Amino acid sequence: MNETILIVEDEQKLASLLHDYLKQANFFPCCLASGLEVLPWLRQHPVDLVLLDLMLPGRDGMEICKELRTFSNVPVIMLTARVEEIDRVLGLELGADDYICKPFSPREVVARVRAVLRRTAAGAQPQPQPNAGRGLELDELRFKATLNGRDLGLTAVEFKLLGYLAGNPGRIFSRDQLMSCIYPEQRIVNDRTIDSHIKKLRKKIAEAAPDEELVHSVYGVGYKFEKRGTAGR
Ligand code: CA
Repeated sequence: MNETILIVEDEQKLASLLHDYLKQANFFPCCLASGLEVLPWLRQHPVDLVLLDLMLPGRDGMEICKELRTFSNVPVIMLTARVEEIDRVLGLELGADDYICKPFSPREVVARVRAVLRRTAAGAQPQPQPNAGRGLELDELRFKATLNGRDLGLTAVEFKLLGYLAGNPGRIFSRDQLMSCIYPEQRIVNDRTIDSHIKKLRKKIAEAAPDEELVHSVYGVGYKFEKRGTAGR
């Protein structure tokens, strides 16, 4: 424990409530209220996780998250005021690790913070490469997947999806299963979100290796990973 958590929230009451709960849960919380301060501050102060409000004065959370990802893999949990925003935020692929919709209980936030930290800590351990397809390499530390030496340019979510599927070749995963792999505590994301991530993932694989289909959709059930060159079927 004792991880440092940066709270970026302009509603002062909410910020201090989160601060108190996180402190009580043995984290080191710090608070910023303006969007403009966040990136310069984070370049100077490494933290273990960022709770990032979407609507901020100065600079909004989406822009901040996107730019943050150009220099840091720190876990980010976005705080949004409306459920509808979550789908939009997901669609933009900002590289956030989780989303919490307001109003939330501080207790829930603490639980999500713990879950995301657990997940990212597990992801950061050097792990044996999954038994992936020919020429597929997954770099868990950098969230980077290469196929036949070519970087697939995956988002964090696409990388995790590919990791789960490739770690269990031939096994069929339902959308629900994939969803709970990726958003363990998430109850809001709908399963079309998975379809849209898979679609982009398959497109990137197809661009890197047109004759290699690795992620297959199983009609009415879900998805599976299988080495199956279109030439050798
Ligand atoms: Ca706000």
